[in-house]
Amino acid sequence: MAVEQRQRHQAAADFPHGLPDVMNAYYSRDERALKFGDFVPNGADERMYTCRSFDIVAHETGHAVLDGLKPRWLLNNNPPQTGGLHESFGDLTAIFLTLSQLDQTEAVIAQTKADLHDKTFLADMAEQFGLALGRPNGLRNADNDLKLSEAGNEVHAISQVFTGAVYDILADMFAHERQPGLQDDAAMLHRVGEYLCGLVLRALMAAPDHAASYAHVVNQMLRIVAEDGKPAEYGNFIRNRFSMREVVIAPAAQDQGQGQGPTGNGGTAAPAELAPDVEDQPGVPQDRRACCGTMNNAQYFELEDALDQERAELARWCQGYAARNGG
Ligand SMILES: [Zn+2]
Repeated sequence: MAVEQRQRHQAAADFPHGLPDVMNAYYSRDERALKFGDFVPNGADERMYTCRSFDIVAHETGHAVLDGLKPRWLLNNNPPQTGGLHESFGDLTAIFLTLSQLDQTEAVIAQTKADLHDKTFLADMAEQFGLALGRPNGLRNADNDLKLSEAGNEVHAISQVFTGAVYDILADMFAHERQPGLQDDAAMLHRVGEYLCGLVLRALMAAPDHAASYAHVVNQMLRIVAEDGKPAEYGNFIRNRFSMREVVIAPAAQDQGQGQGPTGNGGTAAPAELAPDVEDQPGVPQDRRACCGTMNNAQYFELEDALDQERAELARWCQGYAARNGG
C-alpha cells in the first residue's frame, strides 16, 4: 500500500477503512461503529477490503442489531453457546438479507435448480475472505453437517451448528412450500426466507437475557410456529434438524405432530418443551479465537485493555492462520 494512501486512511479515520492492514472487522458498542479492515492476502497483488463483502458487512450489522436486543449476550461471562448464537446471527443476517432481494433468490434458484443443498453462494459466507485463507466454501459454510459434540467451545465453530440447522430448516420449509407449476420458485424462497427470519428473530428475543442456550431458542421456535398456526411439518423440521445436531432430545416415540397447528376446537396447543442434548459444561469459558473481531473486542471483557494491542495480536494471529492454511 502506498504511504500516502495509508496516511489518507488514518487521517480520514473512516470506518469502512477503519482497520488498515488488519484482516478483520468488528462491531463496537462503545464507538457506536462497525469497523472494517483491509489487507493484502498472502501471495496476492490486490488489496482485499472487508467493507466490500456483503456477508461481512451483514455479519457485523447482525452483531449490532442483536446487541441492541440482548445487551448481556456479548459479555464474556456467558457460556459458549450464547457466543455461538451471536456469531450465528451474524451469518444468518447475511443469508436472510440475501433472501430479502428477489434478484438474489432468482440467482440462487438458477444456481441450485431449487435444491438449496446444492453448492450456492447463499450458503458460502465471505467467499473472497475465505479464499484468502485457502477455503473454497467461504470463511464458513452454512450448509454443513456439524453436531454440537464435534464443535468444541470456540464461538465461530459452535455457531456453525446453529447456522447449519437453520439453513437445513430453510431448505426443508422451501421444499415443503414450493409449487413450481403454480408459483415462481424465487418468489416462494423470498417468502419462506422472510418467515424464517422473523421466526429466528422472535425466538432469540424470547430467549433468556443471559446465558441463553441453543435449546432455549429451539423451544421458542417450536412455540412460535405452533402459535402462528403453521403446518405440523414446520415443528417437525425444527425438532428433527436440531436433534440431529445434538441440540435437543426429541423422543422418537413422541407424536411429532402433537401440539402443532390448529386443534379440533380452533385453538392451538403448546408443544412439549424439549430437553437439551449436548450442553455447555458449567463454568466452561468461551473460546473467542478466530477471525471476527466483535467478540474479541476488549469492551466486552469489562477491561480497560489496550484495544490496539489486541487488534495487532489478532491481525498477527490471522496472518499466521492464513500462512498455516495455505492462504
Ligand atoms: Zn462475528
